[in-house]
Amino acid sequence: MAESRDLTRLERIGAHSHIQGLGLDSALEPRAVSEGMVGQVKARKAAGVIVEMIRQNCRPGNPLSGQPGTGKTAIAMGFDSSVLFIDEVHMLDFECFSFLNRALENDMSPILVVATNRGVTTIRGTNQRSAHVIPIDLLDRLLIITSQPYTEDEIRKILEIRCQEEDVDMNEEARQLLTLIGRDTSLRYAIHLINAAALASMKRKGKVVETEDIERVYRLFLDTKRSMQYLVENQSQYMFSVPANTEVATG
Ligand code: ATP
Repeated sequence: MAESRDLTRLERIGAHSHIQGLGLDSALEPRAVSEGMVGQVKARKAAGVIVEMIRQNCRPGNPLSGQPGTGKTAIAMGFDSSVLFIDEVHMLDFECFSFLNRALENDMSPILVVATNRGVTTIRGTNQRSAHVIPIDLLDRLLIITSQPYTEDEIRKILEIRCQEEDVDMNEEARQLLTLIGRDTSLRYAIHLINAAALASMKRKGKVVETEDIERVYRLFLDTKRSMQYLVENQSQYMFSVPANTEVATG
């Protein structure tokens, strides 16, 4: 019974549940760490200007662009929820973009925020290439915000916030190790290890998460680079694999 209650609680902690806003002061300047937000100062400042424009009844559209895991969705969560938010906008095809183009011209249209981690590539349903995979005429109607990769210190702070959010006690050495893992693999992978490491700690009846717990789950669960490496080394065992020298994205 106790176990099933704990599981329910785990499921309820969403990836962005720690984000309560954009973390700006009254002059719309980003605080270093506030409302669950860490760093990404330039993007948050730009988002703050957009929020102010919305308050003044302007209706700008916004694409958030940047490398995977650099907080585009987190920043979109920090906008007012009355924000139509389309994540992974590169999945739309040309007709969807045409519809959005028309819809944005309507006075009743919602405020549109879209996010993508794609660079210059082909728009679905066409053979046209475009920046951020958004047709140029739609892109021209939007104000673009770019997110930046995180520093080691920012990764450490985000991981601390996630530990609090997930109610996980972790000692300093373990946090340091997790920060290095986040830096060398991805922030998202490091965030996923928090809960797995807490379970490993619970299993050995530990009071806090220690480095041995982090090491254990790091060995158990592969990040994208190690997974890719494994697939390349064992490709002959898999169905439908492409030759090893074919370029494949690893995130
Ligand atoms: P993708 O391009 O892969 O969709 P993304 O840029 O949308 O990635 P997010 O999903 O926003 O990245 O971020 C990954 C995780 O890190 C989420 O749990 C998010 O809440 C957290 N995160 C990212 N940036 C920040 C930040 N600046 N402050 C606090 N948490 C953050």
